[in-house]
Amino acid sequence: MNITNSLISFAEAQRLMPGGVSSPVRAFKAVGGTPRFIDRGDGPYIYDIDGNRYIDYVLSWGPLILGHAHPALVAALTDQISRGTSFGAPTQLEIRLAGSIREAMPCIEMIRFVNSGTEATMSAIRLARAFTGKNKMIKFAGCYHGHADMLLVEAGSGVMTLGMAASAGVTDGEVEDTITVQYNDLVGVRNAFESYAGQIAAVIVEPVAGNMGLVLPSEGFLDGLWELTREHEALLIFDEVMTGFRVALGGACAAYGIAADIVCLGKVIGGGLPVGAYGGRKDIMEQVAPLGPVYQAGTLSGNPLAMAAGVATLGELSEDTYTFLERQGARLLEGLRKIGKEYGIPLQTAQAGSMIGFFFSDVPVNDYTSARKYADTTRYARFFHAMLDRGVYLAPSQFEAGFLSIRHTDDVIDATLEAARGAMQEIAS
Ligand SMILES: *Cc1c(COP(=O)(O)O)cnc(C)c1O
Repeated sequence: MNITNSLISFAEAQRLMPGGVSSPVRAFKAVGGTPRFIDRGDGPYIYDIDGNRYIDYVLSWGPLILGHAHPALVAALTDQISRGTSFGAPTQLEIRLAGSIREAMPCIEMIRFVNSGTEATMSAIRLARAFTGKNKMIKFAGCYHGHADMLLVEAGSGVMTLGMAASAGVTDGEVEDTITVQYNDLVGVRNAFESYAGQIAAVIVEPVAGNMGLVLPSEGFLDGLWELTREHEALLIFDEVMTGFRVALGGACAAYGIAADIVCLGKVIGGGLPVGAYGGRKDIMEQVAPLGPVYQAGTLSGNPLAMAAGVATLGELSEDTYTFLERQGARLLEGLRKIGKEYGIPLQTAQAGSMIGFFFSDVPVNDYTSARKYADTTRYARFFHAMLDRGVYLAPSQFEAGFLSIRHTDDVIDATLEAARGAMQEIAS
């Protein structure tokens, strides 16, 4: 595979930007080698600047559930762009997107649009603290909620890949109110509530964890969080930036039947444009300025291009979409397990709707500790490159989820499995 142009661009980019990238995981540090510079995307494929084509399972880290350059999205954006790109004033597009979201996720009675998932979670925490009058919060090891200071504690994926417990530049003061518990550990949560009685404002959780690889909530875990937060008058924040419109049309709230107090969204609801949102119970959301005392603002928030992309994306989704995506994911994972078995390579796979994940491990992975302990990252790096060489673009880290789009049809899945057969053979030896 010729990647001359990517090699040249990467060298140039590294002179101008830290690591040559705008977000760390893109630099391929966990797998080594040269990141591909992308020229364009079309349906399930991306094309690099050397003209190589890849089946894309990253999909911009989740947003592109319609695949690349879906005609409905292109039309909506083209129409909006000729009317102007930003006004800093209300538009009807915000009402339309808010309406579509509320329809799919009834627990979101009111919503505030922001520009990224990071903004959504940091604003949600501020709101939870204001609403409850308490300061502390519980988060789970290996869950990533964006890069706000108080949430950069054992924060999964990027941070995990680089082997950092937190981040330089985050003060002890900023994390002193953050209590970290292992994912799926309800006893740990109960203990935290007892140790800090009356002080915990909220529990924030990825209801399906997608930032330490894909780790599913164990039976009763989310229900337990709901009950414990009721018992201790704390709020339950579902960070559905990744899972929203991914694990089901109504996100994890619908999939697990839980009406979280605050839900954070991003990724899919922006259809590939920069967006985030937080919403929930009306009495909580009414605390947000200008109605209430919790300040939060944004020059580009509710940006018409982002809103138009979101409306167009959600407009293409129905329950049938998820039936299809789930089937395609199951087919892919089943194929991978089968091929792994043939070559004696142990795989732990997981799926939640259109999110998929696999660990090179012979024991199940349930949390951050087991992910770090059992996942064979060296083997993953070899597999990643063997797949890349065969035209399949997986996440450049073992600790990321994979994503499917409506354009990942049977022939695309079959081509992926054919590549996987060659790749497994290569890494088995
Ligand atoms: C991606 C992600 C975020 C951060 O969103 P950005 O738009 O990258 O700031 C927060 N939480 C979860 C669960 C995510 O997957």
